[in-house]
Amino acid sequence: MIVDIVPDALRNIARSLSLGWRLACRRLAALGRALAAFDPLRHMAAIVHLVNRLGVGWTTLIFAVFSALMSASIVLVASLFVDMPNYRTHLTLSLLIPLAVSSPFSFLICSALRDLDKARRTAIVLARSDVLTGIANRRAFFEGANRARRRGGDTRRSKAVLFADIDHFKAINDRYGHEAGDAVLRIFAALLRQCTRSEDLIARIGGEEFVALIVGADAAGLSTIADGLLQRVRETEVEYCGNRISYTVSIGGALGPSSSSVDKLLALADAQLYDVKRNGRNAFQLANTLVGGAQLSAA
Ligand code: GH3
Ligand code: MG
Ligand code: MG
Repeated sequence: MIVDIVPDALRNIARSLSLGWRLACRRLAALGRALAAFDPLRHMAAIVHLVNRLGVGWTTLIFAVFSALMSASIVLVASLFVDMPNYRTHLTLSLLIPLAVSSPFSFLICSALRDLDKARRTAIVLARSDVLTGIANRRAFFEGANRARRRGGDTRRSKAVLFADIDHFKAINDRYGHEAGDAVLRIFAALLRQCTRSEDLIARIGGEEFVALIVGADAAGLSTIADGLLQRVRETEVEYCGNRISYTVSIGGALGPSSSSVDKLLALADAQLYDVKRNGRNAFQLANTLVGGAQLSAA
């Protein structure tokens, strides 16, 4: 009988041990995964936010007071279990030492975080803006357009793209020099900004190619914007090193429902631009997919 029971008991112990071991391994693996997923930068973001809101001085003070209070609480809890003859001295020291030690370190870390965050934000702005004109670059345009699409918004609002290309720009470079061409690009970007609304996303997506993403405008509104731009460009001579440079621009546009993809609108606007170039430049042509057909606005 005992001979039968002993192996059973051993088997049960072995099974329990094996189960326990597997459970411990699973817990350890979960802990490992949690540690691997721990993103210190995300937690740093909260501190960076605090530094940006309150400034380095106040954040340092908060950290110093926090560490002093933590240290004093530990002494208070310890005093419940351990006999402390110089209790007041311990408590005073537990407040003063963290204040003295953590303040300079917190100050240095907060200052470094503030500078790093400033550099990060500058890098983001530089990566998204066109260095020459200061408006958005190609990448920022598509990022902005995708963000707007993900946000959704009012589905009844139309979506449109204007695609502008400076006429005979190569000739301006050849005649007045590359830097004069740069000046023309800068002035044109400023005119585009002036002729569009502040909520419109404008960008330089190529050498002398500019786009505007316009939400909520009808065909008449787009024509007003594009014709206004054509007019301003015709009227504005660019002065560069004693030269007065006049130039023109061709604009293609595409208007569609809010569900239209920006890529499709851009391709459609490009086709209109191609037509304008073929027909003599210095004009605006719109493909209106809301009603069908293209509308030409005379130079
Ligand atoms: P079209 O009327 O058909 O558009 O002719 P275009 O001369 O404007 O067009 P083309 O594509 O032949 O020439 C564009 C020129 O733009 C060629 C290139 O050297 C110049 N370019 C591109 N980027 C810059 C820039 O950043 N600064 C200057 N100054 N020129 C640039
Ligand atoms: Mg071009
Ligand atoms: Mg051109």
